[in-house]
Amino acid sequence: MSEASIFTRIMSGEIPGDILFEDELCIVLRDIAPEAPSHLLVIPRQPLPGVQDATHEDKTLLGHLLVVAAQVARSSGIAEDGYRCVINAGSHGGQQVPHLHIHVLGGRQLHWPPG
Ligand code: AMP
Repeated sequence: MSEASIFTRIMSGEIPGDILFEDELCIVLRDIAPEAPSHLLVIPRQPLPGVQDATHEDKTLLGHLLVVAAQVARSSGIAEDGYRCVINAGSHGGQQVPHLHIHVLGGRQLHWPPG
């Protein structure tokens, strides 16, 4: 069996995390190394390694994660000025934690293209 990701360990209470919201399918965690004034991570309880592993069976879960991303963007006050949802996938995508998560970044002007 593969090792539990850091996010699974936070969800189980094994290690601490700044959890902003949770429901039966996901949690929202404040990123420990924020890249913007507001940097949240929407993380499914199901340890899908990344979006690159998603199948049609994950459609409902993936939709739910985006709806929660929009909801926490509104509740954290970044929705009015705009924000960015990012999913890093694999090595070239810059993914460090092999447990699917959506970054929700806002609170400052974000630039394009990303580095
Ligand atoms: P990624 O590079 O897309 O895999 O993003 C992983 C993110 O998880 C990074 O932005 C990290 O700062 C963040 N991170 C890693 N460990 C923790 C932790 N213990 N609590 C909150 N965020 C974390």
